[in-house]
Amino acid sequence: GSSNDPLDFLALTELIPPALNRRRLEIRSALETFVRPVIDNYVEKAEFPFELVSKLQELKLFGLDEEGFGCKRVCPLEKAMILYELARIDAGLSTFYVVQGGLALRSIELLGNSQQKSKYLKDMADLKLISCFALTEPNRGSDASGLETTATPVKGGYLITGEKRWIGNANFSGVMVVYARNTVSRDVEAFVVNSKAPGVSVSVIQRKLALRIVQNGHITFKAVFVPEEEKLEKAKNFATGPNVVLNSSRIMVPWVALGMMGGSFEVACKYLKERKQFGAPIGSYQLMQEKLVRILGYFNAAFLQSWKLLTLPKCDASQSALVKSQVSAMGRECTKLARELLGGNGIVIDSYAMKAMLDMEAIYTYEGTYDINTLVTGRALIGIPAFKASF
Ligand code: FAD
Repeated sequence: GSSNDPLDFLALTELIPPALNRRRLEIRSALETFVRPVIDNYVEKAEFPFELVSKLQELKLFGLDEEGFGCKRVCPLEKAMILYELARIDAGLSTFYVVQGGLALRSIELLGNSQQKSKYLKDMADLKLISCFALTEPNRGSDASGLETTATPVKGGYLITGEKRWIGNANFSGVMVVYARNTVSRDVEAFVVNSKAPGVSVSVIQRKLALRIVQNGHITFKAVFVPEEEKLEKAKNFATGPNVVLNSSRIMVPWVALGMMGGSFEVACKYLKERKQFGAPIGSYQLMQEKLVRILGYFNAAFLQSWKLLTLPKCDASQSALVKSQVSAMGRECTKLARELLGGNGIVIDSYAMKAMLDMEAIYTYEGTYDINTLVTGRALIGIPAFKASF
């Protein structure tokens, strides 16, 4: 904790082990140097900042739960700090970390065998192999467990046919982790698909107003052959496949929202002291102070529950669902308040405020919408699922 940081009002950073806090501040300083000055040009153009990949490689952000397969260990607390620091500058970069590290790499880490781990994990962790996580389909968003893409067993492997939508990194991935329904068992299974395989095509979803640097693809698979050895064998069905990966990733997503809440507080606090109207800093007005204090209150509430979630020995899906939904809802309020405090200047990309406000809409929606995560928690509280209409 540092007393001159108004965001650290309750000294929450004292919860972070000192070595990890030093690592966090090193990452912050590197990102301030090489990301902050250029990132908004990419946001404006809605392009992925490939020029930053080599710098991200140097920071060694990616790893596994346990050291191995040529990868270092990166514990959940460190991942949380990385997501926070990236989102504090741009939530698109933080989302890139979620997709590459939290979803694609993690699918192989959690669901693959040691041959598959040796083949892929090091290159993925080193960002030499970019990857994506292809679960969502045009007709199956929240209803992902009903996915319609098929994997038909043939001699030596499978033929994959279907469509995936909203898939981050899809247009520049070397490999795709694809979830598809086995036509014989009717269960959802997982496959590592070479994106150059015949029958794979990708178009990028255009004109997005949130997470503009993230390239979200619409992928079409037309009888794409995948060899048997590329099936992730621990994924026997939806519960033991994509759900395992999503449950582990959902614990981390609140830190994307928190990074934006912290970033929003910082710009708002600074602006309130600098900007003068009616002969005094706008921060001297009661209405302005109330909004800034409200952001800080939400931030503290969100930080503490996100932190506690990370330190639970065993986290239930209904617990991560609670924190993901509530923190992203508070994130929505905070980014909107910061935009308001910045007045007209708040709507330009460079002010951070409105960029974060729009990006927050995507965080509120991906890895389970606010509604779906709320229903997961509601089911645990009441004991009755409320996902389906009763007609
Ligand atoms: P829908 O499921 O159609 O929901 C529309 C509305 O209906 C929502 O408000 C929802 O809460 C509500 N709703 C739906 N069902 C119920 C119900 N039973 N009860 C009450 N309300 C309900 N997917 C991937 O596989 N890989 C990715 O890399 C990826 N990246 C993404 C990046 C971005 C920027 C976005 C926006 C999405 C991404 N997704 C990705 C997809 C994401 O997971 C889905 O958008 C999300 O699951 C919601 O699905 P949907 O958008 O189809 O909305």
